[in-house]
Amino acid sequence: MDMNATPADTLVPTLAKLRAAWLVNRPDYAQRHDDLKRLRAALKDRLEPMVKAISADFGHRSRHESMLGEGMTVFSEIDHMLSHLKSWMKPQRRAAGWRMWPAKAEVRYVPLGVVGVIAPWNYPVNLALTPLATAIAAGNHVYLKPSEHTPRTSEFLAALLADVFPDDRVAVALGGADVGSAFAGLPFDHLLFTGSTAVGRKVMASAAPNLTPVTLELGGKSPVFVGEAVPFAKAITRMVTGKLYNAGQTCIAPDYAFVPLARRDEFVQAVCSEVASRYKQIDANPDYTHIVNEGQYRRLRGLLDDARGRGLDVVTLVEPEDAAKAEADRLLPPTLVLDPGDDSKIMQEEIFGPILPIKTYTTPDEAIAYINAHDRPLAFYCFSNDKAETEKMLSNIVAGGVCVNETLFHNVCNDLPFGGVGASGMGHYHGHDGFLTFSKAMPVLHQASMPLTDRLKPPYKGLANTVVKLFTR
Ligand code: NAD
Repeated sequence: MDMNATPADTLVPTLAKLRAAWLVNRPDYAQRHDDLKRLRAALKDRLEPMVKAISADFGHRSRHESMLGEGMTVFSEIDHMLSHLKSWMKPQRRAAGWRMWPAKAEVRYVPLGVVGVIAPWNYPVNLALTPLATAIAAGNHVYLKPSEHTPRTSEFLAALLADVFPDDRVAVALGGADVGSAFAGLPFDHLLFTGSTAVGRKVMASAAPNLTPVTLELGGKSPVFVGEAVPFAKAITRMVTGKLYNAGQTCIAPDYAFVPLARRDEFVQAVCSEVASRYKQIDANPDYTHIVNEGQYRRLRGLLDDARGRGLDVVTLVEPEDAAKAEADRLLPPTLVLDPGDDSKIMQEEIFGPILPIKTYTTPDEAIAYINAHDRPLAFYCFSNDKAETEKMLSNIVAGGVCVNETLFHNVCNDLPFGGVGASGMGHYHGHDGFLTFSKAMPVLHQASMPLTDRLKPPYKGLANTVVKLFTR
């Protein structure tokens, strides 16, 4: 139990306070713009403490990965919002249609009220502050529940937000699953949850009695398809970056790779060389991130034990020099598992660690059939230099997001919606799509002084009959 957990009986009054303040003072453009700027400046001032807090929570987290995966991503989203917010907020003229002539129609993008945000531990600053900033941009107040597994970072976030926002505009609830569960049951105007598919199901059930709309940013097994003739060098560089960033603890990390059967050994060899060129050793290597906690470390070791127990080839790409210390430090080497079947545990759950199963195909149709026979992935990565092959993959696979000849970076394009599909989630955020998620698109009809519709009343005769005839012609 987290010592600093927010008692459940303070959740309801805190939400009431956020809502009461929002009802009397909905943030206008100037307020939202100012809030985003102050949030950006406060995080910019505290990048070093942020890096330290996350690293302490992970045992060790690469500084560069924190600067890019947390700092850069939050800044790029906020900068994009600052540039576009005014135009996003503008009411949009719509056609009222000739039957409504001469009325005018528009859509106004109005804030919803109070948005709840539940965040995971893997990118604990980005996945708390990006949804929070987007909800603020849309004019809402926000109640945030960060992860209990990164307690120092959660304290860091609570202190940062308390300095930037009054406590009736943004509040933070600290605590574990019990607090999370009570939090998801609050009558928010919208709830954005980022975390596992299993907990996502619970969150949706908790939100249902209040009819709280949910955006669920979940996980899953994101495949890589390596085309039949693609040159390996670039494909492998980008795939390894996606896999080993944050030691694989990334929702959109490549989970497993499909490679042409005839080129499998060449592929494995090239991955070995690529990893060796990045990490001469992993012990005390500042660039290699540790596994966040003992539970995750044991789970990952369990996946490898299961694979070995089935007689699969398990290839450790960089052996730790001090195995006992590596274990104590939760340092898991980059590892390949060759040709696992669906009976192996590693193909049954999201890996979320630096392990890459390699499967083979003889025709791309086999890869398509396999992917389509499983849950819809959060990301799909297609490496190919053949247009027809790429088109075939894109038109036969439904995924939360796709990169062609790249991994991860669709997440950093502010103008692309981000979100899963099926078991990997529902709804979108980032950029304009996030603004829309946290807004009500409120249609408004402005009636004119003498519309034809005034004639549509009993007794239906004379002009009413003419109008009915006209409207139903
Ligand atoms: P998790 O689901 O265990 O926890 C996420 C958050 O939910 C935490 O704050 C936790 O306290 C809270 N929680 C726990 N039980 C709850 C309940 N019953 N009701 C409400 N909230 C509850 O996830 P995690 O282990 O922190 O994160 C890893 C998972 O998140 C992976 O599956 C990963 O793929 C996924 N993820 C998805 C994205 C995305 O953008 N789609 C991003 C990062 C991580």
